[in-house]
Amino acid sequence: MNRVFNFSPGPAALPEEVLSQASGEMLDWHGIGMSIMEVSHRGKDFMALAQQAEADLRDLLDIPSNYKVLFMHGGAIAQNAIVPLNLLRGKTVADYVDTGSWSTKSINEARRYCTVNVIASSKGEDYVRVPKQSEWQPSKDAAYIHVCTNETIGGLEYQWTPTSSFDVPIVADMSSHILSRPIDVSSYGLIYAGAQKNIGQAGVTIVIVREDLIGQAHSHCPTVFDYKTQIENQSMFNTPATYAIYMAGLVFQWLKRQGGLVAMEQRNIEKADLLYDALDHSDFYITKVCKEDRSRMNVTFFLEDDGLTPVFLAGASQRGLANLKGHKLVGGVRASIYNSMSVEGVRALIAWMNEFELIHG
Ligand SMILES: *Cc1c(COP(=O)(O)O)cnc(C)c1O
Repeated sequence: MNRVFNFSPGPAALPEEVLSQASGEMLDWHGIGMSIMEVSHRGKDFMALAQQAEADLRDLLDIPSNYKVLFMHGGAIAQNAIVPLNLLRGKTVADYVDTGSWSTKSINEARRYCTVNVIASSKGEDYVRVPKQSEWQPSKDAAYIHVCTNETIGGLEYQWTPTSSFDVPIVADMSSHILSRPIDVSSYGLIYAGAQKNIGQAGVTIVIVREDLIGQAHSHCPTVFDYKTQIENQSMFNTPATYAIYMAGLVFQWLKRQGGLVAMEQRNIEKADLLYDALDHSDFYITKVCKEDRSRMNVTFFLEDDGLTPVFLAGASQRGLANLKGHKLVGGVRASIYNSMSVEGVRALIAWMNEFELIHG
């Protein structure tokens, strides 16, 4: 067996310890003589597992008791519709901050349900920065303000917490940096995240929503996507993604063994600093995102001579540094260094960058 350093943006690498545990429990989970994916979601075994997963997530993120946790289907992309269907609450306007590809997707979907007011955008600057809160021009009567706190494709991250009034809650797509650092959940009305970046495997979407925002879904909202229905049914109105919830639960326990999100943040800062330092000390590699808005999770960069990019990527791949190609919309290189990426993996990438620069620089 030869595992590579996997820099995939998503579905992304999982901790090896978690994969080994899952593999060991595959044929016989906790002595029941079956795998956990072969049992009823309403049986006592799976119900206990799901409750433990929620409890561990609440612990990790320090989720206040007036917030509900949901395990849903459809990915973050489904939430782009589910959020307006649930949170407009009779209003007709929602505010969106545009910081790149994922915000744009959210905006375009929301336009099917309401008037979208883009209250700040860095589109004109090629999305190299996050517009500061002082630049936002919020509407008078918006139902909520939507942000994407880590733009996975461009490599931008909010290094600050947006604020708003109780009546105009902040909704955050945190798909690609949730659990990478402690957050103040109470600053948000709703947080959503697909699992396949930093939580576990694809198939489950986590929603953390403030209680008072629930119960006023649009009458055309599919029942299965009404947060109220899912809360009343412990996320089991329909059959949930049981194995994906199991895997997420294993990752939550792994995170706790690592020392929780404070420890993860330290490690993530260490990795990001190493890589950005290497980039800043070279003219051969170029970064575009403003320093204060750089993502710790998705490090995007370019080769001065773009013609060398395929050669760089092929050499990386030969050295066991996989999935570094930038998104097709932006090109270049993207190293996704989520929680599961080790410092050793980042050092191996930097060693290859230095070697490549010596040969071609
Ligand atoms: C990956 C990603 C999505 C899309 O998630 P799906 O699970 O494919 O729906 C949305 N937003 C962000 C920020 C992402 O990184």
